[in-house]
Amino acid sequence: MKRVAVLGATGSIGASALDVIARHPDRFAIAALSANRNVDALAALCVRHRPALAVIADAALESELRSKLAAANLPTRAASGVEGLREAAAGDANIVIAAIVGAAGLDSTLAAARAGKRLLLANKEAVVMAGPLLLDALRAGGGELVPIDSEHNAIFQCLPNGRPVLEKVGVRRIVLTASGGPFRGRTRAQLAAVTPDQACAHPKWVMGRKISVDSATLMNKGLEVIEAHWLFGARADQIDVVVHPQSIVHSLVEYADGSTLAQLGNPDMRTALAHALAWPERIESGVASLDLVRMGALQFEAPDRTTFACLDLAWRALAAGGTAPAILNAANEVAVAAFLAGSLPFLAIAEVIADTLDAMPAEPVDSLEALIYADLTARQHAQRMMRRAHCC
Ligand code: NAD
Ligand code: MG
Repeated sequence: MKRVAVLGATGSIGASALDVIARHPDRFAIAALSANRNVDALAALCVRHRPALAVIADAALESELRSKLAAANLPTRAASGVEGLREAAAGDANIVIAAIVGAAGLDSTLAAARAGKRLLLANKEAVVMAGPLLLDALRAGGGELVPIDSEHNAIFQCLPNGRPVLEKVGVRRIVLTASGGPFRGRTRAQLAAVTPDQACAHPKWVMGRKISVDSATLMNKGLEVIEAHWLFGARADQIDVVVHPQSIVHSLVEYADGSTLAQLGNPDMRTALAHALAWPERIESGVASLDLVRMGALQFEAPDRTTFACLDLAWRALAAGGTAPAILNAANEVAVAAFLAGSLPFLAIAEVIADTLDAMPAEPVDSLEALIYADLTARQHAQRMMRRAHCC
């Protein structure tokens, strides 16, 4: 029986993970669940899954969580804050699902890696910010990382086991597929007045609001390019992006002999989660069979890098190295939050990020403190820039 901690249990990935886990009570038990501020949703998940530990990130809500758990007569202990999340990540679970959104997930993701867990990584912002530190932590802990992001999970499935040196196994390049998001084919003029609800209406995937906006700007693919660089040791010139609106081919690996291997499936994150939970075995995920005949045709096209400027900003940050990806990520988080709050136009998201990258030269990443400082400074710069140019 494997014990699983689900960090970010109340989110979209959390719900998909719990759905797969509940299909296999003979294999998996829930060790810990966490949420940001939604005590009711977390308590309801505790009633259903009876974990040993429940963590609410906002420490002011710990006593409310404790009373709700006691009222429901549960054996679950309540904890909160960074310490609580660390305990859930590094405690007695064998598998940790890192599904907190944004930089807020970095600390617990690193804690799980250091503790030698099987780390199911959905929280791409953590690896974008701190790729080298995360790899060091995995090496020190002796655990393993299985990617949950559908593209990286697909690549993982198309590569020989483990994290091979790409040249040694004859890989020519990695091709990440992108759905193109809800605004594929639009011009800049058509994007000037789009609303948060329009940006979050993704044609193929149902996801949290932050990643939905990232998909609409193509920053999601930019973050995934950086994620692929760290997870697979791929150089920037070995990574390509192709738009594939049906989201059936989740990504591809091209080998030196001209063979290209792809992983296909319906767009449902439960496939990646089931794969990573049971790997190297295969288990039922609840995802329907792929009906290729009904699908009829699959399309592929080049991304529109001029209209969706965020993609090239991510390549630029990857090339600059050091703290640049953390700066990119921080500015993006701040700009996306402002867009979702209705105080920043959609097209200004890329402007805020570009301006922040211009203002902050990349520094070497020699410690977690240096990264946290870069993250904080980038957030402050992005806020100042938005106050000057766009909002308030
Ligand atoms: P979501 O918004 O639906 O859920 C986020 C979860 O994180 C919630 O449980 C929330 O309570 C928790 N959380 C939010 N802020 C927090 C904070 N400050 N401290 C602690 N916990 C906090 O997001 P999601 O769509 O499930 O995405 C989660 C992560 O997975 C993101 O990094 C995203 O990029 C990645 N991802 C998601 C999908 C998807 O299909 N949803 C696919 C690939 C990768
Ligand atoms: Mg993805």
